Amino acid sequence: MSIDIEAVSKKFGNFSALSDVNLKVPSGELVALLGPSGSGKTSLLRIIAGLETPDSGRILFDGVEATNRQVKERNVGFVFQHYALFRHMTVFDNIAFGLTVKPKKVRPGKQEIRDKVHSLLKLIQLEQLADRYPGQLSGGQRQRVALARALAVEPQVLLLDEPFGALDAKVRVELRRWLRRLHDEIHVTSVFVTHDQEEALEVADRIVVMNQGKIEQQGTPSEVYDHPTTPFVYDFLGNVNLFRGRVHEGTAQMGGIKLSSPENASANDAPAVGYVRSHDISIERELSEGALKAEVRYLLSVGPLVRVDLSLPEGDRSIEVDLPRDEADKLALKVGDQVFARPRKMRVFVDDYQI
Ligand code: ATP
Repeated sequence: MSIDIEAVSKKFGNFSALSDVNLKVPSGELVALLGPSGSGKTSLLRIIAGLETPDSGRILFDGVEATNRQVKERNVGFVFQHYALFRHMTVFDNIAFGLTVKPKKVRPGKQEIRDKVHSLLKLIQLEQLADRYPGQLSGGQRQRVALARALAVEPQVLLLDEPFGALDAKVRVELRRWLRRLHDEIHVTSVFVTHDQEEALEVADRIVVMNQGKIEQQGTPSEVYDHPTTPFVYDFLGNVNLFRGRVHEGTAQMGGIKLSSPENASANDAPAVGYVRSHDISIERELSEGALKAEVRYLLSVGPLVRVDLSLPEGDRSIEVDLPRDEADKLALKVGDQVFARPRKMRVFVDDYQI
């Protein structure tokens, strides 16, 4: 089922939690709402669910207005960060719950419920644990059961609010990959709230970046990661270094580097900020065009990367560079080495934003 959100706004008292939000979720997509705490992600999810009513704007399901439909008429399934399962019920009974409480007329028979729960247990790969109680499961297993319980009633929309937020880092990574595979299998239209950029980049078909109740940018993971359209998105998705300077008619002079900045062709000697991701900087032993003199302050191994902290003489500041390990090994960097840092890709924004 597709979801259309049209010009939705929501205030709590004087506080504007959502302002004029427009979003289309095509049928069968997995969309991540990504943003910092308080950006309005949960409010938007609750409006889609029908747990909250917008002050203005409309929600359409499959093109039909559903703004005032009750929660139970929307055919949505939920998974929350702390979706308490029923503690006194087994995994099997927890998953079966939504089916057993259906009105008699539409309630499936016992055998049908059993078959359904078994197929869901298979889907979440917990067939052996049907008779356990929630207290006998790990956090990750519990969230898989919560997901199976939400799916049991065959929702047309699945809403997930930080479903893996309470789990440790390793389980989180395993579960988000698992969720992606599961979604590829069942293709239910899903909206997923997260403040974790890696999670959104890895799991979602489309990412909606939210900030202060507004959508900053939306697109495929590579669109928002490779082509951020605002400083906020640049900053929020990935480790960035900032260079301050000025732009004039499409040419930027940023902290000792001159580069062309066609997107700022109309700027007239305006203050500007250049954004460079930490993996978009090369470290070189010889001076080349567009490189800055720097000194290695410290080196840190981060899995397959080496994070190099460089101090720049200009303005007494430092920048962070992430190098693949083999590249760092080739350079044989040591603390105190004099090197040259060359930003390969810088995006310059005229400084009329609050950063
Ligand atoms: P988080 O990641 O922390 O959950 P979020 O992006 O999901 O944040 P929301 O929960 O949508 O953000 O909240 C957006 C803003 O609206 C917050 O500042 C919050 O305090 C406010 N808010 C949300 N619900 C209510 C409410 N029922 N009454 C008053 N203010 C609310």
